[in-house]
Amino acid sequence: MSDDVKALKEELASLVEETRRHLEWMDESGIRRVRREAAVPQPAAAAQGVPSTAPVAARPAGPAPTAATRPTPPPQQPAPQRPAQVAAMPTAPVRPAASHAAVREAGAASPAAALKIIREDLGDCKRCGLCTTRNNIVFGQGNPNAELVFVGEGPGEDEDASGLAFVGRAGQLLTKMIEAMGYTRDDVFICNIVKCRPPGNRRPEPSEIEACRPFVERQLRALRPKVVVTLGATATQALLRTDTVISKLRNSWQSWEGLPVMPTFHPSYLLRAPQEKGKAWEDLKLVMTQLGKELPKK
Ligand code: URA
Repeated sequence: MSDDVKALKEELASLVEETRRHLEWMDESGIRRVRREAAVPQPAAAAQGVPSTAPVAARPAGPAPTAATRPTPPPQQPAPQRPAQVAAMPTAPVRPAASHAAVREAGAASPAAALKIIREDLGDCKRCGLCTTRNNIVFGQGNPNAELVFVGEGPGEDEDASGLAFVGRAGQLLTKMIEAMGYTRDDVFICNIVKCRPPGNRRPEPSEIEACRPFVERQLRALRPKVVVTLGATATQALLRTDTVISKLRNSWQSWEGLPVMPTFHPSYLLRAPQEKGKAWEDLKLVMTQLGKELPKK
């Protein structure tokens, strides 16, 4: 089987799985109909942080669903790739109230409880080929009530061995960045776009990102931090669904479902290009200002 066909099969399997989960959730919630026009994805609205979850009508006592009343795709389903550049905002977007955790953890008593449900759903994941080479799933760790969440690309060798995100050399630099901002690692939450190590630390394939996307998105919805920092091009482009290069996205506020997102360079890149550390610090200072942290005096 060619790689393309395999990737398509994996993507299809992931979509089917997400659709099944969403239908189960709808069933458990007693939802039998949705408005059909709401199923059309609205990238412009999504870019401004408007929840993409379609409003659902109350359960009617009417006939069985027809083609016109079939459920919308699940909220975790990937939207079409946005061709245009993500519009940067001069100031951080306002964070709306949590409103659209249309998943099993919706009724969770706390972010910690929601994360536990998400981890249970991830299970011994076999949704993509990375499961065949990984040693440990790296779900992410930290403070479930964190105001600041870091999203990286995917586990490396040390993370795969330990099951913890950002514990290798890049992780040590990330720790320094976090501490320079006036936090400890225990204050923040750290996770990755994909939860299993790509062999040889290659970039995750689009199909692998899509298989894992529902989980990182559910994590962010559960955590509802004040700010998300995406580390590097892969995490930034994946979360924001854009092809725009990191050098154009960093140092300007972006938005994911209304959450302020600050893209910056990946610590691994900064280890290779230490001359860029000053730029990353500029990005983190914007985050500190947004979070009301005092900036160090020069
Ligand atoms: N690089 C990442 O993107 N994530 C990790 O957890 C470790 C290295």
